[in-house]
Amino acid sequence: MPYYEFNCRACGSFDRFHRMAEVPGTAACPDCAAPARRRVTAGALLHTGSTATRLLDATAGTADRPAVVSAPPAGGHTRITRNPLHAKLPHP
Ligand SMILES: [Zn+2]
Repeated sequence: MPYYEFNCRACGSFDRFHRMAEVPGTAACPDCAAPARRRVTAGALLHTGSTATRLLDATAGTADRPAVVSAPPAGGHTRITRNPLHAKLPHP
């Protein structure tokens, strides 16, 4: 997912991540909330295929449509933590 540079006349430039199909012409300045125009710059892409990029893409891809499960995972109780102190917590 590329990031784009926006320029606020009062505060200067800042970067925002957007999907290529959804990049707006203006964005609210994080400092003064005034609309800042997108600057025309060379595109900057993250290293595609890295774990961080896949996590960011998966998170952004399900932000408006989270995965819904209809049942708990198979196998009954699943261990979701390795901290031995969590075993002392009460279980439902
Ligand atoms: Zn500003």
